[in-house]
Amino acid sequence: MAKPTGFLEFDRQNLTYAPVEERVKHYKEFSIQLTDEDLNKQAARCMDCGIPFCHATGCPVVNRIPEFNDLVYQGRWEEASANLHSTNNFPEFTGRICPAPCEASCTLNINDDAVTIKNIEYQIVEKAYENGWVKPIIADKKTGKKVAIIGSGPSGMASAQQLARAGHDVTLFEKDEKIGGLMRYGIPDFKFEKNVIDRRMEQMEAEGVTFQSGVCVGKDISVRYLQKTFDAVLLCMGAGQPRDLPVEGRDADGVYFAMEFLGKNNQVVGGEITDAEQIRADGKNVIVIGGGDTGSDCVGTSIRHGANSVTQFELLPQPPDAKRNEATPWPLWPQIMRTSTSHKEGCERRWCINTRKLVKDADGNVSELHGVEVEWSKDERGAWKMTEKEGSEFVQKADLVLLAMGFVHVVHPGLVEDFGFELDHRGNIKVDKSCMTTKEGVFACGDAVDGASLVVRAIAKGRMAAHQIDKWLMGETTLPVR
Ligand SMILES: Cc1cc2nc3c(=O)[nH]c(=O)nc-3n(C[C@H](O)[C@H](O)[C@H](O)COP(=O)(O)OP(=O)(O)OC[C@H]3O[C@@H](n4cnc5c(N)ncnc54)[C@H](O)[C@@H]3O)c2cc1C
Ligand code: SF4
Repeated sequence: MAKPTGFLEFDRQNLTYAPVEERVKHYKEFSIQLTDEDLNKQAARCMDCGIPFCHATGCPVVNRIPEFNDLVYQGRWEEASANLHSTNNFPEFTGRICPAPCEASCTLNINDDAVTIKNIEYQIVEKAYENGWVKPIIADKKTGKKVAIIGSGPSGMASAQQLARAGHDVTLFEKDEKIGGLMRYGIPDFKFEKNVIDRRMEQMEAEGVTFQSGVCVGKDISVRYLQKTFDAVLLCMGAGQPRDLPVEGRDADGVYFAMEFLGKNNQVVGGEITDAEQIRADGKNVIVIGGGDTGSDCVGTSIRHGANSVTQFELLPQPPDAKRNEATPWPLWPQIMRTSTSHKEGCERRWCINTRKLVKDADGNVSELHGVEVEWSKDERGAWKMTEKEGSEFVQKADLVLLAMGFVHVVHPGLVEDFGFELDHRGNIKVDKSCMTTKEGVFACGDAVDGASLVVRAIAKGRMAAHQIDKWLMGETTLPVR
């Protein structure tokens, strides 16, 4: 245990951020990390509980949290890094953008503030990079087996690294120009700078992973080629089909899916395209439809463009503004009101709003959103029912409307249809317990199987798929299940 009285002596110390007026001028990350001395006190707060729920039920990659807290407290950073990397291939990804379900299930969080697990994770891995402790781990011997992985998001990257370390020849195909999936082309740089992906890619290349970006599998190379050339195929294609808004005026100019807007912005920041090819929000009245993380990223990006106003609409009711919601008691992830750093940069948020139609001006550009407030109640069978509130209709000026209502499933045309395997009831790729699809030797994991989820879950599933593939290829495996 780090320090038996640590949780009594020290309060939780959260990260601080650069002031709003400074950070909205650029796309760089803006969190201000703790000093080693302060972080040591935060690690000291860990109680090393008999059943550490943070590790057992909270963290999807099952990080050994009490152990690395203790190592940080003792100043044994290199061992902390080894411990962290034993369960998580990319702690620098999760240390930046994980919503930290571990902290929600920290025992201290019952009647105090959780240990700052995510920040401790971030600082361990950044110190490891600073000190050159993140080195390639090269397989002792090669197996001669070839594995193709399609999609270079966190699930594809994690499985590729695990399989290369098991001695297989891994080729990672990516249709976009650069690797990283939604971490590269969805999540804005102000939350996650892209050199973080590049430096990990260098390590993976040294470990023997071959990256083939700019190759759309199913179009540039065929399913037949894949099956003839590789001993196993793993699909990590993500849940790329966005949910649409089927209302009058949807076809107006200036109405885009969030990913069109965010993807192009990240390409400009990454120097791949010019400002002129971008969707700009400068001086516009922006309406973001969808109250989740993707919507929040649209808010922060619009503000950085210099939007005149930014409003975010959500169909569901506002969650309770409390630390806990009775419907989701400890150690569950609490359904409560969350305010992101982007929200704090200046936007109006409204809940229980339904969009009835979008109106175009004479040039075909979107000019207004016609909406109505809704109420939610339960019917006699207990199912949620939405009704429009009489007299609550409103019209709001809109020059740019961004649709951020989530993703429905993996993209079907192309690779998924070419393979012709079964899908589940939601339209995602159906797999068995060994991550195999209904085609022998073809595996799938990540958002393409689970639906839109989280980076940490994608890493966990990538590790699990690598374990199953290695076992299927070799008859046994030493790769961890998670
Ligand atoms: C805007 C936004 C913000 C988010 N913010 C967060 C956050 O803060 N924290 C968090 O934990 N999660 C966040 N998420 C969710 C997270 O990014 C995803 O859950 C995660 O990236 C899924 O990983 P994946 O590997 O399954 O798929 P993806 O990351 O979606 O990667 C799939 C890859 O497959 C490629 N591909 C698809 N088809 C083909 C093909 N035929 N040939 C070759 N390549 C192909 C795609 O181009 C893509 O690169 C966010 C998502 C979005 C959209
Ligand atoms: S990966 Fe996420 S859930 Fe796991 S320890 Fe890190 S912040 Fe917590």
